[in-house]
Amino acid sequence: MIDPATLSSLPASVGRPAYDRSKVTAGIAHLSVGNFHRAHQAVYMDKVLALPGHEGWGILGIGLMDVEGERAKAQALQGQKGLYSLVAYPPEGTPEVAVVGSIVEYLHAPADPEAVLARLADPAIRIVTLTVTEGGYNIDEKGRFKLDDPAVARDLAGGLPATSFGVMTEALRRRRAAGTRPFTVLSCDNLRHNGGVVKNALLSYARAKDADLAGWIEAEVAFPSCMVDRITPAVGPADKARLNAETGLDDAAPIFAEDFIQWVVEDRFCNGRPELERVGVEFTDAVDAYEQVKLRMLNASHSMMTFPGILLGHRIVHLAMQDPLVDTLLEQFLSRDAGPLLDAPPSMSVGQYKDQLLSRYRNPAIGDQLLRIASDGASKLPQFVQDTARDVVKAGGDHRRIAFLLACFTEYLRGVDDKGEHFPVVEPMVGEADRALAADPDLAKGLGLGAFKGWGVAEHPGFVADYAAYRASIKDRGAAATLKDLLAAVA
Ligand code: NAD
Repeated sequence: MIDPATLSSLPASVGRPAYDRSKVTAGIAHLSVGNFHRAHQAVYMDKVLALPGHEGWGILGIGLMDVEGERAKAQALQGQKGLYSLVAYPPEGTPEVAVVGSIVEYLHAPADPEAVLARLADPAIRIVTLTVTEGGYNIDEKGRFKLDDPAVARDLAGGLPATSFGVMTEALRRRRAAGTRPFTVLSCDNLRHNGGVVKNALLSYARAKDADLAGWIEAEVAFPSCMVDRITPAVGPADKARLNAETGLDDAAPIFAEDFIQWVVEDRFCNGRPELERVGVEFTDAVDAYEQVKLRMLNASHSMMTFPGILLGHRIVHLAMQDPLVDTLLEQFLSRDAGPLLDAPPSMSVGQYKDQLLSRYRNPAIGDQLLRIASDGASKLPQFVQDTARDVVKAGGDHRRIAFLLACFTEYLRGVDDKGEHFPVVEPMVGEADRALAADPDLAKGLGLGAFKGWGVAEHPGFVADYAAYRASIKDRGAAATLKDLLAAVA
């Protein structure tokens, strides 16, 4: 356990709160305190709290899920008064260790749901942030909030709510009844237009509960969008032991992350906000432009690394990057395909962003898994690669790397790599019809997969021919030989 009383006696190399925690009170409530929140928003807030007049902007962490992991997290964080350690690893050189102090209260909702609602109704809470995961928004494939989800249906039926949307709606109802201003709702999940997504979900729930209240929420609550970035891996028992050995602390809830951090936020808050711009947060009206760069560069190159990389026999990101075939493929994709088509914000250099990305991927401390990045590729590829593919083909550009990626994804569905090793394929959106297309001896038919629908590539004879040829070559000679030829032909 980290003991708050011993903060001042930590070794000088360990960062610690640069403010008096005893004076800090919560102004932000965060729903679902995952590792990412602790490595990202809580770190920015740790800096904000050192600014004069900001002691009212501490974080109240709230765990919502009634599962063992969340009970253990609550016990750990409450036992340490919200303190925890973060090791931030640069791609090379010495990691930075810090004890973060911005979470000043922690509540586990299933243990005391009324306490959570009472705190969220408190006028001191002016912003509610969320990282409830992509699935936590409870949206179907058409973007509609699922009112028939069992947990949502239970909340709608009455009693104290348990879901994030039930809890926020009830807290807002109480605030309205008491004449208290509402809080801003700020989603920090990795979703396109996350402000719009959380607004749609909350309003859908509220309308089903109380149409009049929903009208008030729509008129009064702000839902700014934001773009968040910092690779924060899960912490298993071995990581926990390793981190504590490295820091010399006895932390019940240590985390680690890369040193890179970015937060770009739309400046639309309905009840004040801390001066985050003074600690590195960018405020803009053009979150979409940043989001586009992130999706088409970071997320798309993750896909470009993952499907070819797995077929080549790689499983870990930085080890894949040590393979010159993968590194060169990514460099070419970013600088020749994705990068030139971007409408990047003026403050952003796409070339620098690319170099930084490649260096982040080479970071040996992160150990991210290619199979984790690959999972549900059929949902991710359309979000991350489709726009670039369509633009490249439309402009008559060099489509070869994208045709190769789609060929690799189709071959990846077989679950066996160049070396004959089998790997698990987690593709909930790939059904029987897709599997039949991927198995058809007419290899071009694979472009009919649901994941590639509407991309505009199947209508392009040159793209179709290259895709089929890459698939044939992967089957006959392997992905490595195919990629080697592709890179040689391009260079
Ligand atoms: P995590 O597993 O550490 O935490 C996820 C939290 O969400 C847990 O507290 C869990 O109980 C809660 N949760 C899960 N389903 C929920 C639901 N239906 N309703 C409410 N709470 C729910 O994961 P993490 O690394 O903190 O990532 C969380 C999210 O943060 C991601 O889904 C992503 O949107 C965003 N993000 C993560 C990273 C990263 O590198 N980890 C980077 C950028 C953005």
